[in-house]
Amino acid sequence: MALIVQKYGGTSVGSIEQIKAVAEKIKAFADMGNKLVISVSAMSGETNRMNILAQEIQDTPSLREMDVLLSTGEQVSISLLSMALQQIGCDAISYTGSQVRITTDSEYGKARIKSIDDQRIYTSLDEGKVVVIAGFQGIDENGNITTLGRGGSDTTAVALAAALKADECQIYTDVDGVYTTDPRIEPNARKMKLVSYEEMLEMASLGSKVLQIRSVEFASKYKVPLRVLSSMIDNPTGTLITSEERIMEQAVISGIAHNKNEAKLSLIGVPDEPGIAHKILKPISEANIEVDMIVQSVSAREGLTNFAFTVHRNDFNKAQDILEKVRGDLNAKLVQSDDAVVKVSLVGIGMRSHAGIATQMFEVLHRENVNIQMISTSEIKISVVINEKYLELAVRSLHSAFNLSE
Ligand code: ADP
Ligand code: ASP
Ligand code: MG
Repeated sequence: MALIVQKYGGTSVGSIEQIKAVAEKIKAFADMGNKLVISVSAMSGETNRMNILAQEIQDTPSLREMDVLLSTGEQVSISLLSMALQQIGCDAISYTGSQVRITTDSEYGKARIKSIDDQRIYTSLDEGKVVVIAGFQGIDENGNITTLGRGGSDTTAVALAAALKADECQIYTDVDGVYTTDPRIEPNARKMKLVSYEEMLEMASLGSKVLQIRSVEFASKYKVPLRVLSSMIDNPTGTLITSEERIMEQAVISGIAHNKNEAKLSLIGVPDEPGIAHKILKPISEANIEVDMIVQSVSAREGLTNFAFTVHRNDFNKAQDILEKVRGDLNAKLVQSDDAVVKVSLVGIGMRSHAGIATQMFEVLHRENVNIQMISTSEIKISVVINEKYLELAVRSLHSAFNLSE
């Protein structure tokens, strides 16, 4: 008998019909004698809908109240799924994050899980029940409701699997696994059977939203066997995310990630002197804005330089205002802002032992006439920032140039 944690995403519980279908799948697992802990997302579209409702009242609502609001989506789906299970004769009980004490820090909107009280879960499992737990939410030490950031139900599931030492954590979604790139952009994308934690971490942090990055961090830290599968087909095999040692044959490039949430800001004509990067980025980080890529160009003739960086599109306006003020303080020439950019990245452990991948990538983009605005590299990835209108073209031409569909 195995203990399995399963997570069903918003698209898998998007309607009553789908909730009923998911209940049938869960019942089949339970009938095989497995103990099941299920974590669910809000019905698809609900979290977005609530964000829009809040925006209709306030431009920048209190983060605490946002979490009280957004956490309700998951409470709807756990109760409906438990009812659907009970209706077909499968004993089930739902719990919110606070009821099983999913304790987090107090960073509303992007809280981190600190601990989970497994007692109530074990008691219900011992009573023969399927335990259905709200994803995406927790409580801080003072009992305030927190949420874990978009896509956070993935992290709830993996954290539950780690806390309960489950045999496997299964993430059910609308694709049958992790593909070489987003199949919505490149229909020839190929499903991978195995992916290492490290590569998955890189893919997730570079924008592959199939798994929330923190869920992969948790899985890697606690060695949780993590599988991504489709809730829409029978007997899916999916993709197993596992330790590198288990992956014998390694392609140089394993995947292409993209991130549409980028925005680029540049300060043009800044006096090139010590402390520039610090003076520009300190007020940005003090405003709690995360900076992704940074490029400082070589000093031009008059001792002036240009400094560019990217932030999340949600922070674009805020960062623009701050930079305008910095421009005045530093006597720089002008602020240039562009939120029509995307980041495209090649990822692969095999890059460690292969030179020339970057050159090959730049050659492909050159051939397609795609202008590269920024570049950053690490041991296992190369990222470029390009105009958003070239996203599909860049992903597809790189996918084919690196033979990823084979
Ligand atoms: P859920 O609602 O189940 O959490 P998400 O929309 O968050 O589902 O994640 C699944 C989506 O992730 C897929 O529909 C797909 O478009 C996207 N995706 C992005 N990159 C990849 C990739 N490399 N492999 C598979 N899916 C990907
Ligand atoms: N409902 C949340 C979201 O839409 C959490 C999740 O789906 O994982 O981001
Ligand atoms: Mg998701």
